[in-house]
Amino acid sequence: MDYLKRAMEIKEEIIASRRYLHQIPELGMELPKTSAFVVEKLKEMGYEPKLISGYGVTATVGKKTDGKVILLRADMDALPMEEESGLPFAARGKCAHTCGHDLHTAILLGAAKMLKESEEELEGIVKLVFQPGEETLEGAKALIRDGILENPKVDAAMAAHVIPLLPTGFIGYNKGVVAASADYFIITLKGLGSHGACPQLSVDPINMGVHLHLALQEIISREVNPEEMVVLTVGKFQSGSAGNVIPEKAVLEGTLRTFNEETRKFVLKRIDEVTNGVASTFRGNADINYKGSVSSLKVDPEMADIIGQALKELLGEKNVAQTEERMTGSEDFAEIAAKVPSMFFVIGTGSPEEGYRYGGHHPKVVFNEECLPIGAAAYAHGAAKWLERVRQ
Ligand SMILES: [Zn+2]
Ligand SMILES: [Zn+2]
Repeated sequence: MDYLKRAMEIKEEIIASRRYLHQIPELGMELPKTSAFVVEKLKEMGYEPKLISGYGVTATVGKKTDGKVILLRADMDALPMEEESGLPFAARGKCAHTCGHDLHTAILLGAAKMLKESEEELEGIVKLVFQPGEETLEGAKALIRDGILENPKVDAAMAAHVIPLLPTGFIGYNKGVVAASADYFIITLKGLGSHGACPQLSVDPINMGVHLHLALQEIISREVNPEEMVVLTVGKFQSGSAGNVIPEKAVLEGTLRTFNEETRKFVLKRIDEVTNGVASTFRGNADINYKGSVSSLKVDPEMADIIGQALKELLGEKNVAQTEERMTGSEDFAEIAAKVPSMFFVIGTGSPEEGYRYGGHHPKVVFNEECLPIGAAAYAHGAAKWLERVRQ
């Protein structure tokens, strides 16, 4: 099938799906309306969709069971923020699709329709996965735990993310590490409260916290190879309620980002040691909890070559580029990419020259919907070509 031509023919349908999803943004793992819409659309196309991990949706297409299985993933969740795009179909409540996951879902629905129409041609199986809980870093882990990589067993996986501020329809991919790891930590320092005039009766958690904040930064400046990109940010430090009272505890929350799993493990171990060391130095103790962790996203170079080449043939050399760019943001598709060879690409949704001025997660972000058929064609063509190539 000429997937680009067909995608252009069904463009209005893809846009309609996207606009509907845009107006029903839902958060995290709780996506009843979004999931119901996806199930209904897939049924209309002749699929037999199944629910997984609560509101996740999966379905397969392809008749040649002696070929390979490729998983195509789209995430579906929104963000807890108000939209200020001014668009007629803007979301009105307390959540909004400012990361563009509504586009991902519509793109994969478009690809699903075309893959179903060309089912006889497919040299293997495509497993479609509509994932909840990407922003909360829960979804991919839940899907894996609930068996998404089995029945049929998945040989490879592919995902994409729309990226504002890049030219509309531009596709970029990297053959190495694409997105950073992320570990959100919450450190509770426990001391002993007292009157502010009697510090000798206290174990001051604010004092511990101040020393700890500085000590954590020394891990990056003194213990990590300066050639490595590592970020350790404490973005929240809360303690106390009055200037003349020494409180019982202090809480520091922060995030660690790396591009290298060994560095990540090392720094996590050092956060633990330094925190406990600083707390005990000042006679207190500490608890460290993690709320959401994801490893860095690494692409399989061979798969990236095969699909990258296929996308260049589909869209033209000048519209598809292999780059060295990486995202310091995280992407929980990393959990799947850690288990099976994977490809990840980005799709531009409009550059400043085209009049698009805001980035992802911004309340005013606007995505050029002309990218939708291109994304759908890229998913379908990339998967079909990969199945063809690995069968030869
Ligand atoms: Zn996001
Ligand atoms: Zn996202």
